[in-house]
Amino acid sequence: MKTIKTLEIDIETYSDIDLLSAGVYPYAESSQFDLLLFGYSVDGSEVQVIDVVNGECIPDNILKALTDDSVIKYAHNASFERICMSVYLRRHYPEYFRSYSITEDTIGGYLDPASWRCTMVWSAYDGLPLSLRNVGAALHLDSQKMDEGKALIRLFCVPDKNGERHYPSEAPDKWELFREYNKRDVEVEMAIQQKLSRFPVPETVWDEYHLSEEINDRGILIDMPLVEQAVRIDAIIDRETFVGAQALMVKSTAKVSKKNENPFRGKVKCRCGRSYFFIPAAHRNYWECSARFDIAMPCDNPIIYDDALNAAWERLCTKLRRHADDILTPCLGQLAILEENINQGEILELENREKELRQRRYVLCKLCAENCITHEKLLQSEAEIEVEFAEIADKIDKISAVVDDTAEHLEIIYKLISTTSPQRLIGMIIEKITIDNGTAVFELKGGLKLREVM
Ligand SMILES: [Zn+2]
Repeated sequence: MKTIKTLEIDIETYSDIDLLSAGVYPYAESSQFDLLLFGYSVDGSEVQVIDVVNGECIPDNILKALTDDSVIKYAHNASFERICMSVYLRRHYPEYFRSYSITEDTIGGYLDPASWRCTMVWSAYDGLPLSLRNVGAALHLDSQKMDEGKALIRLFCVPDKNGERHYPSEAPDKWELFREYNKRDVEVEMAIQQKLSRFPVPETVWDEYHLSEEINDRGILIDMPLVEQAVRIDAIIDRETFVGAQALMVKSTAKVSKKNENPFRGKVKCRCGRSYFFIPAAHRNYWECSARFDIAMPCDNPIIYDDALNAAWERLCTKLRRHADDILTPCLGQLAILEENINQGEILELENREKELRQRRYVLCKLCAENCITHEKLLQSEAEIEVEFAEIADKIDKISAVVDDTAEHLEIIYKLISTTSPQRLIGMIIEKITIDNGTAVFELKGGLKLREVM
């Protein structure tokens, strides 16, 4: 077999970890990480795309080339390809995996960067843009990156907004396009190299690149006990500092209020059903029922002061933060019981109706077979049954969704309460506030209602 000199690589992958915020290492190390497509070209020959997720195998000589230091590997942002392929080899072809240190070393899990060249670094060195798209445009390449890429990556490479993964079989035509996209990326990379070959990167710069890769592979040691204690101290910060911080915040809120940007705006309602309006005043801003001076039906619910409303909210946040486990955990527990009850009651009923419908369809078919009813009548009845089936499925979905939604909100509140300031929480978790005399009922997203005297 002819020896390989260079390998041009571009891969498409899936992971549940967000690449931009977490970086490539946690992204690739996730148990959900998956190699979808492996596009490559050997010594500048025609690009091959291996459909890994559909069971195609990367040829042995290519797998070997990944750890063969005499084969130079090119990729655009090559760290991504190198780290992802390190994890892929380790998991699927441990016999081919070889690192550049011992396993006890944190770099021991990754392929040696020494034989990798990054065309992004190359572009940067020659003063060109960094992204593949912009380099391609700047160099006026014949072959340009495909515009459909972003949508395809959203479809196949990251979980959807419900956290679900989508597979090629769900959209075969789009998958075909994605394979095209992968192939094109390799072609664009090769074209860039072709153009830049007269302006090579000096070996000393590649040495620096390899050193920087090794530094990234190794990471830095963090004193975790120190970090954990620091987080704990932050959580039990003394009362005085806390009150001081709150006072500062109220002060800054007062400033905001003057600019008519009160964060409670639109959320404050009166027990009479109408809204409370924010009234900026010289000394003390306040809220009043919009029907307070209504001629026909005046509302006697008194005004409330803005600082008192803020203070009540902050007290509530403090309670929630201190007693999150006592307040929110039982809610989640009750919700789970509720879910079971609702599901068992209503869903059982719906399932019984489904059974009836199936029975009815069966009888109808029989009647038709025995010529007791016309074929037309059968088709018409079947269509009606189908409609009701769809309705039932829809209802079952909705019942589960309501409870799921509430649980989701409660969990969000649980997470936010200890890390976010009361001021910021207003917009994030308050659904509405109902005023009844000197009491405010804060209704949070997800339905949790908490009463606080002002
Ligand atoms: Zn009112």
